Amino acid sequence: MNHSFDYRTLKVNGIYQQNATGDLMLRLKLPAGVISAVQATAVAELAEKFADEALHLTCRGNIELHGLRGENLAQVYRGLQAVGLTSRGACGGAVRAVACNADGGNFDRIQLLVERLHRHFTGNPYFEGLPKKFKLAVENGYSGARHLCQDLALVYLGREGERELCDLWVAGGLGRQPQEAFLLANRVPIERILSLVEGVIRVYQQHAPEGKRLKHLLAEIGEQEFRILLGKETAGTSLLSLTSPLDDQFGAAIAPGTDGWVELPVAGGQLASNNLRCAADIAGETGDGFLAISRAQNLLVSLSAGVDESALRTALQGAGLLSGEAALQCRVCPGSHECPKGLVATRDLLCQLNEVLGPQARAQSWGISGCLNGCSQPQLADYGIVGTRKSTKSQESSYDLLHRDGEGFGQSLHQGLSEAELLARLAELG
Ligand code: SF4
Repeated sequence: MNHSFDYRTLKVNGIYQQNATGDLMLRLKLPAGVISAVQATAVAELAEKFADEALHLTCRGNIELHGLRGENLAQVYRGLQAVGLTSRGACGGAVRAVACNADGGNFDRIQLLVERLHRHFTGNPYFEGLPKKFKLAVENGYSGARHLCQDLALVYLGREGERELCDLWVAGGLGRQPQEAFLLANRVPIERILSLVEGVIRVYQQHAPEGKRLKHLLAEIGEQEFRILLGKETAGTSLLSLTSPLDDQFGAAIAPGTDGWVELPVAGGQLASNNLRCAADIAGETGDGFLAISRAQNLLVSLSAGVDESALRTALQGAGLLSGEAALQCRVCPGSHECPKGLVATRDLLCQLNEVLGPQARAQSWGISGCLNGCSQPQLADYGIVGTRKSTKSQESSYDLLHRDGEGFGQSLHQGLSEAELLARLAELG
């Protein structure tokens, strides 16, 4: 291990220690999951030069490079900055990348909100050094219940006359103690959003103990006290438009995906750098020059006015990036393959799922997490699998199986299953 690095500083710059031999993981912070073809090519080149050639696409729309070495970080950061990419605040106690659903509707408006929030909070010293991570998302409506697992989620409701409105949900989170968010305020005009988001983060910053999430603060002080504290923080704050007419015009010109996306399935979010480079080349030559990472960990190629969709699909098929077969919808975290907290080999388990699941079960959405932290959001999939114990000489690894059958989080169906028991239960699903 190289002891000359200050890992706390590295964390806020998007770096985690991956293992005891000094490998590092760098997580990019992509607002709304969007990346240009030029940026994607640069990321593929950096991975080939300095990291593992397999990139990990996360279910919050970001890209992780694994297997980096500390001595190469300066060159990697220079390479990212040269194409306008950042990893600032992607790890540690900071406002994380603002997630959203690129493949939902209203993306042109939502992307602008995400972009403004990203620019406001990224690298802003008033909002760094938080007790722990702060996850922010802008959701297009309520499908998939993703608003329930964020520290703060804005649910975009669209325009009503001159006004654009959002609902605000706070204090959700997964992990060892999953907690569904609660509705803080409904039908809020977007001019009120920034002061409310800042207010929630300030209350969190001032009152939560080190190492605790907002949900823990809420469990301690209760909703009523939280609202009183928030009222004090936001009293007298002015309205501030999050977007401007200039943004609107500029945004309309650059907003990708306005006519939809071509989705390239990426099994378990594991994308070879040469496939990213190839998709970027095609997006640049035949598409409109933009890609995005979806919440299902797939790669999206943007379609906007003037793009010949059938030519784009033909080019992607010719490159082997798009096939007619329906892929299993399964979000997967790196697990013990790359994460120091991983208890089980998540990608190996995905391969086994592909073998044992019958047609009914394959039509459901899945999430596999290598530990109780639940980074692949197993509670939001139709079925979730969580590794709960690492195998040792004397004990097998064990798993919990979750099932979601309502509006809230998935609930435990079976606990402490061995791998053989888990696979038998999965085969029974039909
Ligand atoms: S769920 Fe656990 S194993 Fe998976 S990435 Fe998160 S911390 Fe690592």
